[in-house]
Amino acid sequence: MKKPTIGVLALQGAVREHLAMLERTGARGVALKYPSELHLCSGLIIPGGESTTIGKLMIACGFLEEVRELVGQGMPVYGTCAGLIMLASRLIEGDQPLLGLMDITARRNAYGRQVDSFEADLVLKGIEDPGRPFRAVFIRAPWIEETGPGVEVLGEHGGRVVMARQDGMLVSAFHPELTGDDRIHRYFLRMLEGAEMAERAPGTGG
Ligand code: GLN
Repeated sequence: MKKPTIGVLALQGAVREHLAMLERTGARGVALKYPSELHLCSGLIIPGGESTTIGKLMIACGFLEEVRELVGQGMPVYGTCAGLIMLASRLIEGDQPLLGLMDITARRNAYGRQVDSFEADLVLKGIEDPGRPFRAVFIRAPWIEETGPGVEVLGEHGGRVVMARQDGMLVSAFHPELTGDDRIHRYFLRMLEGAEMAERAPGTGG
């Protein structure tokens, strides 16, 4: 497969770390500042940061509608932390702009103030070497309170869903780009190969 280009939404948040992780996994990462650059990409990462800020900036820069449309048409997307919130269809509390594409209900700052940030070893479904725990970094993280029927749960922590997938949409409540472990990014790249395959209808000669 040729080197895929993945856009990292670069309005606010942990952009550089995702770009570095993408390079490590053999993809090309580009920091996206303008919606017109989305068309260069075969996949998108919405990083962690502050979801109300990211949402407002997405509207101001014209990203919200454009991303909604492209992801709605099947462009693979991975949202980490604030990116998970952006992709959710419902929030437990508060009123802020969302993409509203994934059939999940998110609870912002779910772990409360006393555990602002923490690390945990998780067993995740679908990644390479799944028996080897993934060291997950949670920073004022959300969790997924409810999942719709089309959503596959890939990881839990303390009985709460913290990683899930629905078709071409992947979300994690934690930050894999802050660890040395690239297995989730590699999983996302494999989702891209699947999307490419689905695009090529049988009989079209590829
Ligand atoms: N608490 C942030 C929010 O609500 C998310 C934190 C993060 O992305 N690390 O948007």
